[in-house]
Amino acid sequence: MDFAYPPEAAAFREEFRAWLAANLPEGLVGFDWASMEIESHELEQMRAWNRALADARFAAIAWPVEYGGRGAGVMEQVVFAEEMSKADAPGTLNPLGISNIAPAIMHWGTAEQKRHFLPRMLRGDDIWCQGFSEPDAGSDLASLRTRAAIDGDTFVVNGQKVWNTLGHLANWCELLVRTDPDVPKHQGISCLLVDMTLPGVEVRPLVTITGEREFNEIFFHDVHVPSAALLGPLNEGWKVAMTTLAYERGGVAALHLRVRKKVQRLLELARTTKVDAGGRTAADVPAVRQALARVHLEADYLKLLADRAISAELHDRPLGPESSLAKLVWSDVENHIAEAAAEVLGPAANTGEWGRDRVYVRALSIAGGTTQVNKNIIAQRLLGLPRS
Ligand SMILES: Cc1cc2nc3c(=O)[nH]c(=O)nc-3n(C[C@H](O)[C@H](O)[C@H](O)COP(=O)(O)OP(=O)(O)OC[C@H]3O[C@@H](n4cnc5c(N)ncnc54)[C@H](O)[C@@H]3O)c2cc1C
Repeated sequence: MDFAYPPEAAAFREEFRAWLAANLPEGLVGFDWASMEIESHELEQMRAWNRALADARFAAIAWPVEYGGRGAGVMEQVVFAEEMSKADAPGTLNPLGISNIAPAIMHWGTAEQKRHFLPRMLRGDDIWCQGFSEPDAGSDLASLRTRAAIDGDTFVVNGQKVWNTLGHLANWCELLVRTDPDVPKHQGISCLLVDMTLPGVEVRPLVTITGEREFNEIFFHDVHVPSAALLGPLNEGWKVAMTTLAYERGGVAALHLRVRKKVQRLLELARTTKVDAGGRTAADVPAVRQALARVHLEADYLKLLADRAISAELHDRPLGPESSLAKLVWSDVENHIAEAAAEVLGPAANTGEWGRDRVYVRALSIAGGTTQVNKNIIAQRLLGLPRS
């Protein structure tokens, strides 16, 4: 592995750091976009920030230049993520759109779909969600049952999706539907780009254990979707879905940034949290030190996995199942950090920011591929173990 940054990446760092210093509004520093509890004035602030990023071609640097990106290589993408993290800057309004849905549109879309959707997504004029999972189709996504019957030049959609991140803010959805129920399950699926304002689309927010509205259920009652909404060939939606999910699993290189920052904050907290009248701090307690050492090492391990992913990309080796390993380690270390916070803070770890974190991190072992499914992928494809 070569850990040195090439000169172009260093030059890009200077340019982007200076731009952030001049353009990131103070009110948005540390803005917790991830909690999705956003007021309308905050949404407007985020839209303005998103447009500023797009105008400077920083909204999607990995996108090709023709679509408003910079065609940036992996090292520039790493630098971008590092500087965004250092400045505590929120990303765009389309975390799913820019990194997952847009690559599928670029790959499978018609010229008209690319011309219409990509610039609006880039600027945050539209907000996108992903309508893949259903109550009986999650890990086994190909079992999905939301039906789209062809009626002249429209698809008539009926069914239900669930766990749709951003669904309550989104006006567009990348939707997987069953268009042929009479063929093997992977072959009868199509992908539609659906206007969420169409009659018959109903979004019901799901309130999570943190009390936040991060995701939603979406119901479709006789929704008439024009045939021009089809992304990719009819009945080949599984391939479109795989293009989308390939990018979802590709964000490995930046996972460690947030984690290592959190570990640092926890270390500082341990050094200042008094545990007895004699002035001992949590950092002096052996059991706490062990918990902290563990998460510190695991976070560094995650960074090494990221470095390996970057090195693979630089040498044109596809990442493949290694991304499952990084996803697994990432969700484990996030859960271990929450446990370490409980060691540091005691009962106070059930309140405030760390209390929220403690219940929230459970979701990370489910979202984007569950821990058990990732273990299966690692066992079979990395370790070469038999299927059963
Ligand atoms: C925070 C968050 C955001 C999400 N955002 C979206 C979104 O925007 N759009 C969207 O479409 N979906 C989204 N999802 C849904 C997510 O993709 C699914 O939750 C995930 O795929 C798992 O599916 P499931 O919940 O149906 O669980 P299931 O697949 O039913 O799994 C239940 C349990 O069985 C285990 N299991 C399943 N299959 C196997 C197997 N073969 N071997 C061993 N164990 C197995 C699982 O690991 C799990 O423990 C989100 C989920 C979360 C938590």
